[in-house]
Amino acid sequence: MYLSYIRLRKFIPLLNVRPLTEADFYAMTDRLGIKVHMMPLEVNGYYLPYRKQVKRGPLKGKVEMEPHIHINQALTGYYWLETAYHELVHYLLHLPLYAGDAQFSRLLSKTRCRILSKQEHEARSLALIALIPSCLLTDWDLLSEYADEMIERRVRVWKDYRI
Ligand SMILES: [Zn+2]
Repeated sequence: MYLSYIRLRKFIPLLNVRPLTEADFYAMTDRLGIKVHMMPLEVNGYYLPYRKQVKRGPLKGKVEMEPHIHINQALTGYYWLETAYHELVHYLLHLPLYAGDAQFSRLLSKTRCRILSKQEHEARSLALIALIPSCLLTDWDLLSEYADEMIERRVRVWKDYRI
């Protein structure tokens, strides 16, 4: 988890420095060429690379992966942000186990389950760090806009990893 945090800070230098925003998220997804979709979903969100064939130029016919993040349109506020960063973490740190795999937990083989649950834990923890940097944890006033249960989950990350 700590190594993943260090790796993620190379992509997102402001991680755990200040709360990351919706504008930060869209600036990153634009830069990285990630398409973001808001839609009705039964899960909060998922990251999925689509196979896409190059249509023209010297690489015509080559199959490339195009990253897509889907977010449940019913989410708002910090829960929307948490899902957005959760899926961005999957894109930045976790290769899909095979192309076309959605990054959300489903019943799979035991090994794949173990890898996926480790990745889920990292994405959950790192998304909370993106929303609530540790410097905010020393002051209840600064935390007043977050839901209590979200603060509890963020404090758990801090207690487990001191991040
Ligand atoms: Zn996930």
